[in-house]
Amino acid sequence: MQAGTTSTSASRSRLTRQLILGFSGAILLILAVGLASLYRIVVALDEREQLRSAFLAGSVRQSLEKSEKTYLLSHAFWQAAYDELGIGNNRQWAYAEDNIGPTLYSSDGYAGVFVIDENTTSYAVVDGQLSDQPLEALTPAKQRILAQARVALLDDQATSGYIRFRDGPALFSAAVIRPPQLPHHVPGPQRVLVFVRPLTPVVLQPLADSVGLASFSVTARGYDAPGEDHMRLDNSGYWLVWPVQRPGSELALTVMPPLALATLVILLAMLAFARQALSVSARNDRNYQELAASREALKVSEERFKAVAEAASDWIWETDAQLRLTYLSGRFAELTGYPVQEWLGRPLTDLMSCDTAHLQHWLAQLGSVNGSDSLRCQYRDHLGQQRICRLTARPVLHHEQLQGFRGTSFDITDEVAAHARIQHLSQHDALTGLPNRNKLFAFIEQALLEGKADLAVLILDLDNFKPINDHLGHPAGDAVLIEVGRRLGTITRDSDLVARLGGDEFVLVVARPGTREEMDALCQRVIVTLRRPIEHDGQQLHIDASLGVVLSREHGGQPADLIKYADIALYNAKAAGKGNWLHFSAQMNDAVQGKRTLERELALGIEHGQLVLHFQPRFLIDGVTVASVEALVRWQHPQRGLIGPDEFIPLAEESGLIVQLGNWVLREACSTAKAWPQPVLVSVNMSPAQFTRSNVVRDVREALLHSGLPAHRLELEITENVMLNDIENALATMTALKELGVRLNMDDFGTGYSSLGYLRTYPFDSIKIDKRFVQALGKSDSDRSVVQAIINLGNAMGMTVTAEGVETERQLDLLSADQCHEVQGYLLSRPVENRVLVGMMKNG
Ligand code: C2E
Ligand code: CA
Ligand code: CA
Repeated sequence: MQAGTTSTSASRSRLTRQLILGFSGAILLILAVGLASLYRIVVALDEREQLRSAFLAGSVRQSLEKSEKTYLLSHAFWQAAYDELGIGNNRQWAYAEDNIGPTLYSSDGYAGVFVIDENTTSYAVVDGQLSDQPLEALTPAKQRILAQARVALLDDQATSGYIRFRDGPALFSAAVIRPPQLPHHVPGPQRVLVFVRPLTPVVLQPLADSVGLASFSVTARGYDAPGEDHMRLDNSGYWLVWPVQRPGSELALTVMPPLALATLVILLAMLAFARQALSVSARNDRNYQELAASREALKVSEERFKAVAEAASDWIWETDAQLRLTYLSGRFAELTGYPVQEWLGRPLTDLMSCDTAHLQHWLAQLGSVNGSDSLRCQYRDHLGQQRICRLTARPVLHHEQLQGFRGTSFDITDEVAAHARIQHLSQHDALTGLPNRNKLFAFIEQALLEGKADLAVLILDLDNFKPINDHLGHPAGDAVLIEVGRRLGTITRDSDLVARLGGDEFVLVVARPGTREEMDALCQRVIVTLRRPIEHDGQQLHIDASLGVVLSREHGGQPADLIKYADIALYNAKAAGKGNWLHFSAQMNDAVQGKRTLERELALGIEHGQLVLHFQPRFLIDGVTVASVEALVRWQHPQRGLIGPDEFIPLAEESGLIVQLGNWVLREACSTAKAWPQPVLVSVNMSPAQFTRSNVVRDVREALLHSGLPAHRLELEITENVMLNDIENALATMTALKELGVRLNMDDFGTGYSSLGYLRTYPFDSIKIDKRFVQALGKSDSDRSVVQAIINLGNAMGMTVTAEGVETERQLDLLSADQCHEVQGYLLSRPVENRVLVGMMKNG
C-alpha cells in the first residue's frame, strides 16, 4: 500500500514536469514562428526598396546618357561643323564665334570639348578655354571613345560612356562629325566630336533629386557600404553609388524593442513559473525518495543487524521475563545438537551456567552502570561435552516494562583451548615439556608468597653435553635433554618443580627440603640417576651433572636472587671438579661480586691504555742465543698496581673482553718487535676463546699490515685447548694462519685434553713443554721420562721443542743432556720491560 502511494506520487510529479516543459516549448515555438515571419517581411521590404532604387538609378543614368547624346548629335551631324572642324580647322568659327565654344562650358557644364582623330586632337576647349592639350593627356580612354564613335556612326548615332578624366569620373558623349544628309559615309578624316562632363556632386545631386533618391555619388570602390547600392559605370573603374532605404529593417528596429521586451517578460514569467512548479515537484520527489530511501535503509539495517548478529554470534536467543526461552535462531540446533523445540519454554538457566556469577543475577543487573554486557558461560551439548560460550544480553522493554531478554551466544571453546595452549607454551619448554623460566619464577614467587619460605633451589648443569650435541647431532642432544627431564621427574615429589632454564641447565625447586644432609642425599641421587647411560639410536650416551644448591631459609630473597645464588654455587662446584655439588655461601657471592667489579674495571682499563707488555726471551739450548721473545701482558691497575695475566685473562675470556685485549697485544707486540735492534722472532699468546669469538686470521693479518712486521717474525702460542671445541674450525683457522706465514707454537704441552694424535694433524712448528714438568725435573725420574718422551716426539715430527719455567742450572743441564732445543725461564731471564730488553739486545 505504501509502495502504491509512492509510485502514484512519483508519476504525478513526473506529469507536472512534462506539462511545464510542453507549455514552455509551445510558447517558445509560437515566438519563433512570429519572429521568422517578421524576418521574412523585413527582408522582402528591404529587397523591394533596393530593387526600386536600382531601377531609378538605372533610368536616371539612361536618360542622362540619352540627353547627352542628343545634345552632342545636334553639334556633330551639322554641315557647318563638318566644314569648319570635320574637314577644316577653323577655330575662329568654332571658338571665337562660339559655335562649339566657351558657352558649352559656361552654360552647359562641359569641362572638355574636343575634336579628335586617330593621331591628333585638332580642337580642344578645356574649362571653356581654348587649349593645346591633346585628349590623351586628360584621359586614357581616347581610343575607346574613337572606336565607340565609329561603331555608332553605322547606326547614325552618337555614343556615350564613362571615363576617367583629369583623374576624376566623367561622362563623355561622342560622334563622328558629318553632314546631316550623308548617312553611313563620311568622306574625309572622320573626326570625332567629344563632350566631357565631369560627374561632380553639382551634376549628380539634381539627378538624384529628380527621382527621389537621397543622393548619387561616384566612387572608385566596388562594394556596398551598409545601406548603399551601386552600379558599375562601364569599364571606367567607377561605380555609381546611392543610398538605399531599408524600410524592412527600419520597421524591425521600431518593432523589435517592444517585441523583445515582451518576449523577455514572457520568458521570465515562464521561467519563474517553471521553476516554481519544478521545485514543488522536486520537493515532492525528494519527499518520495527520502521515504523510499528510509524504507530501503531500514531494510538494509535490518539485514545488516541480522548479518552482524549472525556473524558475531552462533545463535540468537530471546526469553520472557521469567527467563523462559521464547526464541532460538536456526544455528542453535546446529551448534548444540538439540532441536530448537526441545528448549523453547524452558528456562535459559537450565541450559547455561557460569562459574563466576549467577546467570539470573547477571541478567538482572544488565543496564546498570557498572554491569558488563557479556558473560562467559558453559553448557553441555547433546553429547554431554562441555562447551564454553560468551553470552551477550539486553533487556527487552515495552513502555518501561520488562518483557524479557534478548541476546547472542558465541562459542569460544576452541578459543579458550587455544588460549590455554598459548598459556602453556609461554610457561613451558617446548622440547621437554618442563616448566620454563617464566613458570619457574612464578612458582617460586607463589611459594614464597604463600609463606612456604622453606624452599631449596638446585641448579643442575650437564657436564659433557656439548660434545654429544656437537658430535652426535641435535637429535641426540634433544634425546638426552628429554631423558634428563624425565629422570628428574622420577626422583622428585609432586610438590616439587623441575624446570628447564635453557641449554643443558635444569632447575629443581624442592618444597620443605629438610636438612642440608637430606639435600646432599638428593644431589647424590640426581648425579647417580643421570649417570646411568642413555640409549639413543642404538648408542649409549654418558653424561655427568654438577649442581649448585641454595636454601631459601638460609639465603632469602626474590626468586631471581635464589636462582642467582644457586648458579654461583654451581659455578663453584664445576670449578671444583665435575659430577659434584656445592651449597651456596656468602663468600661465593663476594667472590662473584669481586669478579664483576674487576671485569668492569678491565673493560675500562683496556680502553684507557692500562695494559702493558713485558718481554721474556727464549734461548737456544746454549743459553746465549735468543731464539724468540715472548710478549706477556700485564695490567697496570690504578689502585692495585701491576696485575698478572693469570688473574685477568680468564675473566677476559669469560666476558668476551679477550677479543679486544688480544688484538691490543697483537698490535702492540708486532709494532714493538718491528722497532727492535735485532730482527728477533716475537711470540704472542693467544687464547682459545679468541678463536671462537673473533676472526683470528683477519686480526693477525691486520696487526702485521699495521706494524709492517714480516709474518715470519711472528709466532703465535696456542694451547692445545684450542682444539677442544670445534676441531674442524680450529684446523681451518690454523692452516690459514700458516698460509699468512706466521709460526705456530703449541703452548703448555702436556696439560691439555688433546691426545698426542692431534699433533700430527695440526700445522704446529714447535711445542713448549709446560713448566710443571720442567720444574719437577730432577725431583723424580717419572717426570724426567715425560720430558724426554715429549722431546723425542718433537724430534720425530720435526718440531722444535722448548722447555719453559727453567729456574735452575740443574734443570738446564738435564734438558741439555736430553737434547731439548730451546729453553726459557727465570734462570736465563725474567720477563722485562721493552726498555730493558732493548738494552740487553744492544749489549749483545
Ligand atoms: P705462559 O704462556 O705459559 O707464560 C709463561 C708464564 O710463566 C709467564 O707467566 C711467565 O712469567 C712465567 N715464567 C717464565 N719463566 C718462569 C720461571 O722460570 N718460573 C716460573 N715460575 N714462571 C716462569 P705470566 O706472565 O704470569 O703469564 C701467565 C699466563 O698468562 C701465560 O702463561 C699465558 O698463558 C697467559 N698470558 C700472558 N700474556 C698473555 C697474552 O697476551 N694473551 C693471552 N691470551 N694469554 C697471556
Ligand atoms: Ca706462552
Ligand atoms: Ca706455559
